[in-house]
Amino acid sequence: MKADLIDLHIHSNYSDGTQDIEEIIDISASIPLKVISITDHDTIDGINPARNHIIKKQYPLDLITGTELSSKYGNLDVHILGYCFNEEDEQFTKILKFYKEKREERAYKIIDKLSDNGIKLTIELVKSLADGGSIGRPHIARALVQSGAVENIEEAFSRYLGYFRPAYVPKEKMTPEQAIQYIHQAGGIAVLAHSGRYLTDNMLNEFITFGLDGIEVYHPIHDNKTTYNLLKKAKENSLLVTGGSDSHGLAKSDTYIGSIAVPYLFYEKLLDSLKERKDKS
Ligand code: AMP
Ligand code: MN
Ligand code: MN
Ligand code: MN
Repeated sequence: MKADLIDLHIHSNYSDGTQDIEEIIDISASIPLKVISITDHDTIDGINPARNHIIKKQYPLDLITGTELSSKYGNLDVHILGYCFNEEDEQFTKILKFYKEKREERAYKIIDKLSDNGIKLTIELVKSLADGGSIGRPHIARALVQSGAVENIEEAFSRYLGYFRPAYVPKEKMTPEQAIQYIHQAGGIAVLAHSGRYLTDNMLNEFITFGLDGIEVYHPIHDNKTTYNLLKKAKENSLLVTGGSDSHGLAKSDTYIGSIAVPYLFYEKLLDSLKERKDKS
């Protein structure tokens, strides 16, 4: 029998992935994966369409609510994954709306800076590429390619949109502590994304005091040794373990849906922990 596999880290075109929700669901069902989560950056807008598509096609595929929140920890960009939160939670929806609006304001500022550099882009083009979702630099990069200002996405970042480039505008960011709190107050589980990228013992201890529930252990940037060490750290600190492909469709072609083998067992542990929390309250 084939192992039951899950992928708890997938981006759609509601953030900076290139695939739409229906395509992602169809691919996941065809692999077949047992459980997935759409974890778009700072938005949960893709969740409902995903659920509807699964129901419409009657796929035997479980979907858990997800998002990947962008936070700032000193100079470090730290991503916090949220799972199994109540997507209708008013406070959470409000917070996400605030950051989405901030991203739109930032897009206007970037367009202004591009204009100072002789490049005319319209907000309409950028918004249409974001398809109603949260606007990110990848959408602006695609607009620059479409308008012929640059040859490709890489050039858009290296000439204009990257750090220290003329049209760089920083994002409004929450702290990791806030991210964890926001997820918790909506009933969810907070997990440190691609934890091998930045995890130190000090950071882990601090985040545990913030209430961090788990760390992402299975991720394409982690080699076997990193994965092993992270599993050990999770165990030592009684943290949940999660993982996923971090697929962005064609926007990051070195990873794709289902490409990381994440054992189903960790999904069961996540559900157990949620149940335990409910029983306690
Ligand atoms: P934002 O959240 O709007 O600042 O956009 C960040 C996203 O831009 C990252 O998640 C990447 O997907 C993408 N990105 C950042 N730097 C580059 C780059 N040099 N080339 C291509 N994509 C990039
Ligand atoms: Mn991304
Ligand atoms: Mn990330
Ligand atoms: Mn991601």
